[in-house]
Amino acid sequence: MTLMISRMAARPFKLLSHLSSMHAPTPLLARQISMDAKGFASRLVSAGLLRNQGLIGGKWSDAYDGNTIKVHNPATGDVITTVPCMGLNETNDAISAAYNAFSSWSKVTAAERSKCLRKWYDLLISHKEELGQLITLEQGKPLQEAMGEVTYGAGFIEFFAEEAKRVYGDIIPSPLADRRMLVLKQPVGVVGAITPWNFPLAMITRKVGPALACGCTVVIKPSELTPLTALAAAELAVQAGIPPGVVNVVMGNASAIGDALLASPQVRKITFTGSTAVGKKLMAGAAGTVKKISLELGGNAPCIVFDDADLDVAVKGTLGAKFRNTGQTCVCANRIIVQEGIYEKFVDAFSKAVQKLQVGHGFSEGVVQGPLINEAAVQKVESFVKDATSKGAKVVLGAKRHSLGMTFYEPTVLSDVKSDMLIAREEVFGPVAPVLRFKTEDEALRMANDTNAGLAAYIFTNNVQRSWRVAEAEYGLVGVNEGLISTEVAPFGGVKQSGLGREGSKYGMDEYLEVKYVCLGNMSSN
Ligand code: ADP
Repeated sequence: MTLMISRMAARPFKLLSHLSSMHAPTPLLARQISMDAKGFASRLVSAGLLRNQGLIGGKWSDAYDGNTIKVHNPATGDVITTVPCMGLNETNDAISAAYNAFSSWSKVTAAERSKCLRKWYDLLISHKEELGQLITLEQGKPLQEAMGEVTYGAGFIEFFAEEAKRVYGDIIPSPLADRRMLVLKQPVGVVGAITPWNFPLAMITRKVGPALACGCTVVIKPSELTPLTALAAAELAVQAGIPPGVVNVVMGNASAIGDALLASPQVRKITFTGSTAVGKKLMAGAAGTVKKISLELGGNAPCIVFDDADLDVAVKGTLGAKFRNTGQTCVCANRIIVQEGIYEKFVDAFSKAVQKLQVGHGFSEGVVQGPLINEAAVQKVESFVKDATSKGAKVVLGAKRHSLGMTFYEPTVLSDVKSDMLIAREEVFGPVAPVLRFKTEDEALRMANDTNAGLAAYIFTNNVQRSWRVAEAEYGLVGVNEGLISTEVAPFGGVKQSGLGREGSKYGMDEYLEVKYVCLGNMSSN
């Protein structure tokens, strides 16, 4: 049975007439994916969650020149739909809309903003299944994991709905009798939020949640690879009663959109998650108008397993830290550094666990490893594995494309990896676990810190003193005997070239607030 859903069905809002004539309707799904797909796609359409236009000032909009880009299902290569290929003009309009909305949204009471965010959270959770399906469809991760992302992502909105009410200031004891000194916290203004494809929902909510809670308005630029989840989340923000212009979404020409956000003096803050190279460009670009900036960039996470670790705990923790999202997260274990006394046992037990990981389409029952995001990602993995094996690393498992074809890659374990191999120097961003060997704690620490990155690190040991010592390594997040540590209630962020600022937790609010000092003079009674 072929699945055909008309493009108009996905557009509950009327198109502007001058835009609607510019390009003929195209089938939403280019061909059948599976019987399951029919069910979830129709639910997405009827819930109004399969959006394929940008959102500017509360209006759904095409690109002004009618250009579009295709969104693919990475598991099949099918075109899911097209979205507008926007650029400078649409971004400038989105900035103006956000700027105009800021004057009222920043004045709404914290209680009212909190209610809107809470409503948004409730809608995200009540559409958990559909949003999960959308994430699997455009990003590829297994459905269970995708629904986990919805819970995690929505959690930021819930958490910051509560934090909205706790933006306290201070009163400073004045050194002069006729003065009173106050500290106020005020929203920074319009925020440009640029997000990647690996967490199509959560990377947005952990920026937009605190921004809106503080009274800021946002222009979101999701990844062009996964814009549909962002648009569905924006639709739910509209349904939650978040006023027009407070949340805007543009996508298309990344550098044109980025340049417009950077150039505008109305944009007071850029928040970005993505590659270190793009992060550096944005940081340099933000200097022109002296914007606040937060960056969540690449990692090169060490996962250190000591001789005294509990083997089962270390295997389970390393498996989660390495293979979550098919290895495509910036906190994924990139170097598994194992002490010589437990090395062979660990490699053996770990490989047996990796061998059991079921690879397949995200909608299939029991699958825990989906495809990589695109062909370029597979080629990068292949080149890293080739470099390692050519320099002496041994293939314990995998190290080739999966028989499913497309962008599926076999879960891989490499042993005898050395610190100078590419795979130990840079993020592989795929399902490859390189295992290195060390002798002493000092050596492990030296190896762990020998990188420009400093996002996540993991330690497996039963020695309490050692866990404290090693947790002081140059990283922003450390998991001790635990491989999955991200949560909305704790601060997430890196040191060194892994970034600036923190997301999540009470600290995540500071990124969107200015600290203002008010001095009241001439206070003596007369
Ligand atoms: P990744 O390699 O993980 O896709 P990128 O840094 O390339 O990481 O992408 C993260 C986000 O940054 C995406 O939304 C992408 O479109 C956007 N992006 C890429 N280049 C630029 C740029 N020059 N200006 C602004 N955003 C950009």
